[in-house]
Amino acid sequence: MSETWDAIVIGAGLVGLAAAFELAERGQKVCVLEAAAVASGATGSSFAWLNATGKTEAGYHRLNAEGMARHRAWADRWGDRAVGLHRPGCLSWAEPATPIAVGELRASFEALSSFGYPCRWLDRSELRALEPDIAFGEGAEGFLAPDDAWLDAPRLARLLAGEIARAGGVVRERSPAAAIERSGPAVAGVAAAIPVGRVPGLLVELPPDPGAARIDHIVYGPDEGNWHVRATPSGGLLMGADDVDGLCGERPDDATMAAGIREVLERMRRFAPRFDADRATRSASGRVGVRPMPHDGRSIVGPVPGVDGLYVLATHSGVTLAPAIGAMLAEEIVGGTASPLLEGFRPDRFAWG
Ligand SMILES: Cc1cc2nc3c(=O)[nH]c(=O)nc-3n(C[C@H](O)[C@H](O)[C@H](O)COP(=O)(O)OP(=O)(O)OC[C@H]3O[C@@H](n4cnc5c(N)ncnc54)[C@H](O)[C@@H]3O)c2cc1C
Repeated sequence: MSETWDAIVIGAGLVGLAAAFELAERGQKVCVLEAAAVASGATGSSFAWLNATGKTEAGYHRLNAEGMARHRAWADRWGDRAVGLHRPGCLSWAEPATPIAVGELRASFEALSSFGYPCRWLDRSELRALEPDIAFGEGAEGFLAPDDAWLDAPRLARLLAGEIARAGGVVRERSPAAAIERSGPAVAGVAAAIPVGRVPGLLVELPPDPGAARIDHIVYGPDEGNWHVRATPSGGLLMGADDVDGLCGERPDDATMAAGIREVLERMRRFAPRFDADRATRSASGRVGVRPMPHDGRSIVGPVPGVDGLYVLATHSGVTLAPAIGAMLAEEIVGGTASPLLEGFRPDRFAWG
């Protein structure tokens, strides 16, 4: 049986679903093919911090800030709860002797302020007032980015899948795309040529525990791995550290996974002495997700050179960026205009094939 669609999207992660939803909003009949299940890839294993805080290059910062604005617009439309948006703000700090230096953090803060990004510099007593269970050291300083949020990304993915179906499209799970074929120039090998690497990341989850240290914000520590923690939708904690990611790799064996979990929990104990890392070890679970990482670290959004009608969306920070780059690509496909915000993020900067 042959079927006709205006657009076929491969992959039902948040990025593919956002593009498919935005195409459906513009009247396109859309089919999404998903090899496994909705949000079973990076989207389901993401820290899902919505931010432009870690991004001080002007163009990339703007794109991420646009992503955050569009998440807020979706929350206005469907409600924070329905989209899984949680808005505690993000707190980062540094101390005179920490691997992340106060001066380095201050430089990021000044760059963000110069972009008009909401953020407030804090001294040690202000830090303590915001996160009483963290033992900020002598000389600690930091900043709060109050608009930063985190997302229950699988929840939003499922909502978008439902909206696509309501608009007459389909999201087909367990339906891998085996090949891309069309008349004209051959496209075999195009997917394999997308210049994207795989960067694994370990996240450690704890169930709700009234005896554990309390964490109210998204928190980024000043250690060598930029240890980070936030709440989960069920009231537990989710945390990771970038240097531990490197130790675990993509498929850690049981012993490596246990050591990775233990190291992330120890990091929390170091910063929040009330936290009982031994007790937490018994209920903690770890999972490794794989970040799609363009070879130059910058998002790839737009038409694949030399293949009429084929577009690519590949990015890190895809949870933050999905609503912005999804809408921009849909607008480009349907309306023919590329957003000026995509300058510097186009596929034709790479040599393909
Ligand atoms: C540990 C970790 C922490 C992160 N932290 C953040 C963060 O704090 N903030 C942030 O914004 N981003 C973060 N990211 C990045 C973010 O999660 C990703 O950029 C984003 O989820 C990518 O979404 P995607 O839809 O492109 O990919 P995915 O969610 O991986 O979706 C791709 C889908 O395509 C499917 N697929 C693959 N091949 C085929 C095929 N042949 N046919 C059909 N389907 C196919 C897969 O099954 C998968 O479901 C993090 C990622 C990780 C792993």
